[in-house]
Formats: sequence, C-alpha cells, structure tokens
Amino acid sequence: MSIKSYCPECGTLLSGRSDKKYCSSYCRVTFHNKHTTRPETQYQKILVALRLNRIILCRIYEAGTRKIKRTKLKAEGYDFNLCTSVLYRLDKTIGYLCFEYKISIVSESVILIDKVESN
Ligand SMILES: [Zn+2]
Repeated sequence: MSIKSYCPECGTLLSGRSDKKYCSSYCRVTFHNKHTTRPETQYQKILVALRLNRIILCRIYEAGTRKIKRTKLKAEGYDFNLCTSVLYRLDKTIGYLCFEYKISIVSESVILIDKVESN
C-alpha cells in the first residue's frame, strides 16, 4: 500500500520515488522562495544598506568633515530612505539617526553630520 502525497506548491499528485517532495524543480524553488528567501532577503537588504550608511557616515565624520553636500553623500552610496530613528527638535529641525551618527538637513543641498553620544 502506498501513501499518496502532493506537491506543496501546486498540489499535483506526486508519482515516482516515495521520498519525492515536489513535482518539479520549478515547484521546489518557487515553494522555497515563498517560504524562506523573500522576507529574509528584504531584511538582509535593509541591514546591509543601514550598515553601509553607517560606514559612510563614520568615514566622513572621522576624517573631520561635518558638512557635506547632499549630492556627494548620495554619490558615496548613502541611502536617504533608511535611518534607525528620527529626532524632532524644539526648533522644528529634524535629525535622522543612523546608529550613533546623525544627519541634519542644513539647507536643500547641505547635510550636517554629528555623532551622538550613547547614554
Ligand atoms: Zn508542483
């Protein structure tokens, strides 16, 4: 007596080897991507981009530069869409933190970089 099993991706009745899990390589890869790769990939992409932002700010700050043109920071590979937190100050200016570094928009084209001391 054999136990019927079905492809978890498309529902096709499996035939052939009893340990077969998917009907095809396509279904195996598609199922795997849906259940493991995609969320992990997105998560990893954000972490990598945040880490790169921090490396860029660290390098510029430690070289003694505090004000930088927005276009130059972008050319270095800085992703302005990502930050680790946002500081709203009483003077209505906004600081965007990337771990211990903070960028503030001085003007439309100039960015100020600061290092925030941890408590
Ligand atoms: Zn299938």
